[in-house]
Amino acid sequence: MFVSDLRASPAAAPSRGRGRPRIEVRAEASILHADLDSFYASVEQRDDPRLRGKPVIVGGGVVLAASYEAKAFGVRTPMNGARARRLCPNAIVVPPRMSAYSEASKAVFEVFRDTTPVVEGISIDEAFLDVGGLRRIAGPPLDIAQRLRARVRDEVGLPISVGIARTKFLAKVASAVAKPDGLRLVPPTAELDFLHPLPVERLWGVGEVTARTLHEHGVTRIGQLADLGEGALRGFLGPAAARHLFALSMARDPRRVETGRRRRSIGAQRALGRRSRPADEIEAYLHGLTDRLGRRLRTADRVCRTVVLRMRFDDFSRATRSRTLAEATDHTDTLLLAARLLLAEAMPMIQERGLTLIGLALTNLGDADAVQLTLPLEPRADNTLDATLDDLRRRFGSAAVTRAALIDRGEGLSVPLLPD
Ligand SMILES: [Mg+2]
Repeated sequence: MFVSDLRASPAAAPSRGRGRPRIEVRAEASILHADLDSFYASVEQRDDPRLRGKPVIVGGGVVLAASYEAKAFGVRTPMNGARARRLCPNAIVVPPRMSAYSEASKAVFEVFRDTTPVVEGISIDEAFLDVGGLRRIAGPPLDIAQRLRARVRDEVGLPISVGIARTKFLAKVASAVAKPDGLRLVPPTAELDFLHPLPVERLWGVGEVTARTLHEHGVTRIGQLADLGEGALRGFLGPAAARHLFALSMARDPRRVETGRRRRSIGAQRALGRRSRPADEIEAYLHGLTDRLGRRLRTADRVCRTVVLRMRFDDFSRATRSRTLAEATDHTDTLLLAARLLLAEAMPMIQERGLTLIGLALTNLGDADAVQLTLPLEPRADNTLDATLDDLRRRFGSAAVTRAALIDRGEGLSVPLLPD
């Protein structure tokens, strides 16, 4: 009944106020989440038979990976190496061999791409695969998943777990539940039965802080969260987290498996002419560029780690300055802070040489969804201002809201360096 309700009113699915609402509710469980088990440790056990069946820790200072035999002793990643060795004194500690992991990852992704053209890589060892529409040539999703696991085992020599569901979120949870070396199908009619007994920590966006808050309100299972309802959750989680977590608890997750080559950077610039400009005017242009790029980033559901300031001077020489953030972000204010620091550092050079063009590029782009898999919701929760401004601009045009410093100046002649 729930399933038909949801299909009848797709508008009920969350758009989180960011990006284009992507509503796609499919009838069949045909999204695979394939995730290698203890990837680095499995490669070590594959390549050195003496390590098989033994507790193996990769990395001495910080644990980069632990075999299931080591995980049984409580070893986790990342964990301080000394603590891990206290928990599991018999563990064999090996140094990481990144080139071996990278080679294994390439081989596994070859199998993914051979399985379906619609592969969305999430990290070196996991991906979403959309196998909807392959039934006639490749059989039902369950058969496809079984073949995929057998091929990765035979051709690459590694164990891989696969979850199958109608949505990315459920497929990801299903693969985690299936580990190690397992397969789990969540049929559309059994989604809530599968999800509701699980601990709330399984929900994307529930980090330590949110988990503690939920526990304090007696909510430890996803089913209890669903029973409370969005209204009650809002009281102690705030509106954004309440909407997000309630939607997930009802198995609503409208994101598609996204493929294609993703852009590695976006940029915009503004020509200033030869007239000398006061520092505050230059900074106002930088604000305008940052606002616009932040918006594009969020619209594309991307996050950025590196901010690059580009400058051209009176003598046609150029310079760039860049800053890499500790964490990927799509917050305009974080980007702006980085951009302003770069500008402040470059100001003596600008005053000496005269600035004729200012540009900003955001590089080291990642997928906002991928970040959500690993980061708790908390750091993103204060995004409401950006989301509100984006919404105003979407509805009333990009000139609707502008920085006070840019009023009457317009955003000037600004050309994106690359097409969207
Ligand atoms: Mg993995």
